[in-house]
Amino acid sequence: MTERPRRQEQERAGSEVTEVAPGVLRCQLPIDMPGLGHTNCYVLEDERGAAIIDPGLPGKATLTVLRQRLAAAGIPLRRVHTVVITHSHPDHFGGAGWVRRESGAEIVTHRRFSLLWDRFDPPDVDVEDLEQQQQLDDRATANGGSQRPARRRRPWDPPPWGGSGYPFSLRRRMQMRASRHFPRFFRTPTPTIRLDDADTMSLGRREWIAVHTPGHTDDHLCLFDPTERVMLSGDHVLPTITPHIGGFVRSPDPLDQFFDSLDKVAALGADVSVVLPAHGHPFEDLAGRAKAIQVHHLGRLDLLRRTTAELGRPARVQELSGHLFSARAQGHMADSETFAHLEHLRLAGELERLERDDGYEYVAR
Ligand SMILES: [Zn+2]
Ligand SMILES: [Zn+2]
Repeated sequence: MTERPRRQEQERAGSEVTEVAPGVLRCQLPIDMPGLGHTNCYVLEDERGAAIIDPGLPGKATLTVLRQRLAAAGIPLRRVHTVVITHSHPDHFGGAGWVRRESGAEIVTHRRFSLLWDRFDPPDVDVEDLEQQQQLDDRATANGGSQRPARRRRPWDPPPWGGSGYPFSLRRRMQMRASRHFPRFFRTPTPTIRLDDADTMSLGRREWIAVHTPGHTDDHLCLFDPTERVMLSGDHVLPTITPHIGGFVRSPDPLDQFFDSLDKVAALGADVSVVLPAHGHPFEDLAGRAKAIQVHHLGRLDLLRRTTAELGRPARVQELSGHLFSARAQGHMADSETFAHLEHLRLAGELERLERDDGYEYVAR
């Protein structure tokens, strides 16, 4: 069997620090996650010191490498005044608290930034949602409470499509361990500045525009510099792989959100000359790459349409996942992404969802 060529996102972290756009340095921090070999940490220098984007995983090892990379660029770690986090995944936010402890840096995120194990919703987020939910709960209770009040889905709840229970036990364990150990290990970053879409922020001697791009996560943030025509794209648009779109999230249709967010950055494509992703090398054609990622997901939607039509009977998420993903890729992540696609088709009126005791089944309408 021939081995698949290594994708650029999988390359091991190189030690070189290179200028990838005017005044933007790229450092690579080592990570070892499925399909990923490094996280790009971008550095923007100014008269006060430096801002860094996505400081990699938590822990001393990353901090040591980050310190070396910055030193190679002539920047002591204590001069880092701002850490921007593109989204709430550990290979992006993990180092933030560690850097803040050393330098007192501000931590900048999108307003919706929240972690799986946050015990509270982030401030200023979804207050209306919360109030609405509370009213619904109250009403359900007042109506005799025969039905259990509708409850907000928490990240550690079992997946709605049923299955092994693996995510439930894992997430529950994570939640418990998080409350005891993670704050110290992760130095869980508490954002000091939360950006809304279209807010501007001065970094590296110029203005950057916040571009909220939910889909991969609800809190995903890209930064666009119209002066030098640079887009920091995080995991939203990667050069050769497609980011995971999980169905087990707050939004009822994360795939739809992702499509909208791809349209949003593609519309800026003509104003962007270089895209700086969180994994892999810089690239130029933002609109083309965003389109290619959409085409990939549209292909999966078509495959699900065909498969459910051919089966002609209700099928579980896990079974349908077998038609979308290779045997090697099967598991919770594949099921979750399949679920996101199925829900997209259901909400478009193309599939019907049957709620069985042990999870959901889908059938063509
Ligand atoms: Zn991510
Ligand atoms: Zn990532």
